[in-house]
Amino acid sequence: MSRTIFVTTALPYANGSFHIGHIMEYIQADIWVRSMRMSGHTVHFVGADDAHGAPIMLKAESEGITPQALVARYASERPQYLNGFHIAFDHWHSTDSAENVALSQDIYRRLKAAGFIETRTIEQFYDPVKGMFLPDRYIKGECPRCHAKDQYGDSCESCGAVYSPTELIEPYSTLTKARPVLKSSEHFFFKLSDPRCVEFLQEWTTGSNASGAKRLQPEVLAKTREWLGAGADGGEANLADWDISRDEPYFGIPIPDAPGKYFYVWLDAPVGYLASLKAYCDKQGMDFDALLAPGGSTEQVHFIGKDIVYFHALFWPAMLKFSGRKTPDALHVHGFITVSGEKMSKSRGTGISPLRYLEIGMNAEWLRYYIAAKLNSHVEDLDFNPEDFIARVNSDLIGKYVNIASRAANFISKHFDGKLAYLGDTEALQEQLAQVAEKVRADFELREYGRAIRGIMAHADHINQAFDAAQPWVMAKGIASAGEEQKAALQNVCSRALAGFKALSVMLAPVLPALAARVAQELFGAAQGYMWADAARLPTEVAPFKHLMQRVDPKMLDELFEPPAEVPPAPGGCPIAETIDIKDFAKVDLRIARIVACEEVEGSDKLLRLILDLDEGRHRQVFSGIKSSYKPADLVGKLTVLVANLAPRKMRFGVSEGMVLSASHNDASVDPGLYVLEPWPGARPGMRIG
Ligand SMILES: [Zn+2]
Repeated sequence: MSRTIFVTTALPYANGSFHIGHIMEYIQADIWVRSMRMSGHTVHFVGADDAHGAPIMLKAESEGITPQALVARYASERPQYLNGFHIAFDHWHSTDSAENVALSQDIYRRLKAAGFIETRTIEQFYDPVKGMFLPDRYIKGECPRCHAKDQYGDSCESCGAVYSPTELIEPYSTLTKARPVLKSSEHFFFKLSDPRCVEFLQEWTTGSNASGAKRLQPEVLAKTREWLGAGADGGEANLADWDISRDEPYFGIPIPDAPGKYFYVWLDAPVGYLASLKAYCDKQGMDFDALLAPGGSTEQVHFIGKDIVYFHALFWPAMLKFSGRKTPDALHVHGFITVSGEKMSKSRGTGISPLRYLEIGMNAEWLRYYIAAKLNSHVEDLDFNPEDFIARVNSDLIGKYVNIASRAANFISKHFDGKLAYLGDTEALQEQLAQVAEKVRADFELREYGRAIRGIMAHADHINQAFDAAQPWVMAKGIASAGEEQKAALQNVCSRALAGFKALSVMLAPVLPALAARVAQELFGAAQGYMWADAARLPTEVAPFKHLMQRVDPKMLDELFEPPAEVPPAPGGCPIAETIDIKDFAKVDLRIARIVACEEVEGSDKLLRLILDLDEGRHRQVFSGIKSSYKPADLVGKLTVLVANLAPRKMRFGVSEGMVLSASHNDASVDPGLYVLEPWPGARPGMRIG
């Protein structure tokens, strides 16, 4: 049965060029889209630039241009990447578009009418010189814990503490250096805590779509179970309402009937999926509203990274549901890309620039093949390893697949004028090719690309083994004067190998669209690209073999990785502090402590309250900003390390008597995690560390 499927990738933020992570996601989605189309399904595949928000507004301002001009500059770069990697979006749009304004405002109005919008007055830091409310990242000051200067409003890069901007000592605006003042403002909230939302999300996250597949991968479902409070502990849902408004000046979409208020960029960004489809429908003369009618048969599928699941698994379906729209049928969530087992880093020389890849003459289909070979349906990181890349392309793709054509086609051209002929049972051959192709097709649909590629390569091995066992080069000796039987046998061996090669080309077409198109048109004279059903159709002719694909030159990989920048290495993203002597160190009294109790702190989204035993005849209370990385149950009963002689500090929630040690990367975009220290077995509470 033919399906109609609406497919999107996450919208890239339009303040920078595409990086390799974007390209990986687009390749994953593009392979899926191509494979579904080869089954005869109708797929509408759209993307867009995510254009709104404070970072784009301020970056444009610092360059002395309008936000629109900044967004347009990045938009104009997009085609060279998309075309270069054969990523065939039907349409590319922008969230800064008339369609998105209309759709976002319509969704808001319906949510408001249904009782899902609430206004509340909140207090925030405001830059009196700039005349704007400041996001946390635009406020700096002295760390309230370690007193390091010039720390951001949400966390300290020196000691790793996390806090709210109002806790900073001597806070200042990074935009004007002015001291921010607390100012109250009316904000608009989407009531995610509404029981109707919770009930709907319980159903939506656990359910299946019309094709019988689960909407969420198991690990994504598990994450939403935590958020919805339906995990093993069976707790209550604890969804915070979502602040969807920002005050002017803001580059965004005005909130209807609320002068000076704009939608927070994360509200109108996913609506951009619909806006892009709407613009595409208008261009194609299709009925957008009919295509996405609630209860209709169109499937809506979003490919996204693991970092934006919260927005796509909670806010987005709830926004759609309660504004009377169709809800998504599947989220396809992927992990990040790493290089040789590490996070990519320009300073370590492990960054991959997609444009550089193309500029130095590397074949885009090598990367598509490599990424396909390593992707599966789970939320796992994908590692780019240069040696592995060379081996897979040269040994598998060229050595096993492309070589079948060059070996077999030459005999056919030389001795049989390009005509193919088969001896014996061709039905069994067709049946076999159909079975292999069906398994591969099913694996692509399930996003088990690695398994699909292994299936393809196993069949390539099978074809090569049959070809070698028949020894056609022996049969070809003296073929001009040989009998008809020997000629027919040689022709049969080569024809069967080429039929296999053609079937492999069909199976690889979603991954290698340009190569498969050349095979179809130049070698086998097809009028158009392959469909899945073509895998079992035996070719009757082949054109003289032409070179199909170059091997990877290992030197290219050296060129691909730009040399590391000439900066001293900074372990953990932060230079080693100035030298101290042993007396300085001895002033710090570090002790082993047992965490006897731990709980969340009401009114703080960063702190946990720990009760610690140092074997000193009493328990201590310590507040630690590690809530983002640990749940209380993770910590209770564990040993850790405490700065025991730190002066007690009175906080909003009580007195903190010491500091629990934790490790973190200086750059939260590299690794936002906090890692509490734990001693080796044998250590006991109260022991001194030194
Ligand atoms: Zn600090």
